Amino acid sequence: MDFDEIIALRKAFSSVRDRKKANIPPDLDEKTKRLKAVREFSVGNEDLLKRAIKKMEANNIEVVTAAGKDEALQIILEKTGGEKLVVKSKSNVTKEIGLTSALESHGIAAIETDIGDRILQVLKTRPSHPTGPVAHLSAKKIAEGLSRFYGKTVGEDPEEIVRSARDEIAGYIKKARVGITGANAVTAEEGSIVIAHNEGNIFEVMRMKKHIVVTAIDKIYPTVEDALNMLKVLCFHATGSLIPSFVEIISGVSKTADVEKKFFRGVHSPEEITLVLLDNRRTEMIRKGFRNLLYCIDCGNCLLHCPIYNTVGNHFAEEKYLGGKGLAYKSISEDELNRKLEFCLTCGKCRKNCPLAIDIPAAIRNIRSESLPEEMYYFLKSHLFWLYYNVRLRLVS
Ligand code: SF4
Repeated sequence: MDFDEIIALRKAFSSVRDRKKANIPPDLDEKTKRLKAVREFSVGNEDLLKRAIKKMEANNIEVVTAAGKDEALQIILEKTGGEKLVVKSKSNVTKEIGLTSALESHGIAAIETDIGDRILQVLKTRPSHPTGPVAHLSAKKIAEGLSRFYGKTVGEDPEEIVRSARDEIAGYIKKARVGITGANAVTAEEGSIVIAHNEGNIFEVMRMKKHIVVTAIDKIYPTVEDALNMLKVLCFHATGSLIPSFVEIISGVSKTADVEKKFFRGVHSPEEITLVLLDNRRTEMIRKGFRNLLYCIDCGNCLLHCPIYNTVGNHFAEEKYLGGKGLAYKSISEDELNRKLEFCLTCGKCRKNCPLAIDIPAAIRNIRSESLPEEMYYFLKSHLFWLYYNVRLRLVS
């Protein structure tokens, strides 16, 4: 256990919690209620999904559905069209299918353009929060890792770190012709893809000639207004801000009808947009009664409040599957109990702080225990584990 990382994570989480306390939107309850109703209506709604696909296709967005990881990877590989370099932005679904390493195994360099994700990629380490992936790393540690990788000294000043990573990323953006992004939402009424970002890197990635969007079937929303409402709730819970710096609403390729009202597509970029819609056992998960886990909007608020996550950080996680919810999701989707679930205290702080009130501890109890004595065993074990590491943390901090 790297206690410096845990201390850095606690500090970062505490500053987000403080920012949130000082910044609560007056209509947060109303927005949250609307979001909950929309997620209950939309997740697993096949008619809504069909309408969204039809509308996107009418908007000249190519939509390809993928039942599983391998199919999605195959489609994306074909769509890269023999390019040896792609630039990409933050996307939990691309992490879920292991896109970067799959592309690399085919000789294609996939460069992350989000500063935090590029740092993770260079340092070859794992994320600790869905929107702030390097919250557990001190500036000193990042500077050391970047210095080693770049072969020159990068100072510990956060501004210098960001500038160095940004300059490196800019070099790749100049050369790339294919951009890959995730999507926060796809909408049925307009056939739009909605993507939020703060850094501005998505402007660069989506202006490539070919834009590949990788997302999953649970990201469906009835309208753009519903998606914007979700983004405001997500942004507040993830960062304490009221709205992301930028929201892209993509409803087709670059086009004009200026001359004789005839459509000409591909005036600038992108000339082609492909949306890969992944199922990867989500439909099965709904059938098994775990539909509410798919309501998640990846704000990471459960992590900010989870006592175990605040004690052992992303040791209570597997790659992109962070905390109790992530591990429960992984266990169900892979039909295999992840042993780290034994460390959940079932305290319910994640449920209490989840804007969708997802009953994560109930799902965990359901997955890990078959009887009350078994659950009592995990209850005791998790509390002793938590106590032990908290004492050790006290001693080192
Ligand atoms: S119930 Fe488990 S996952 Fe949820 S906050 Fe408590 S320890 Fe964390």
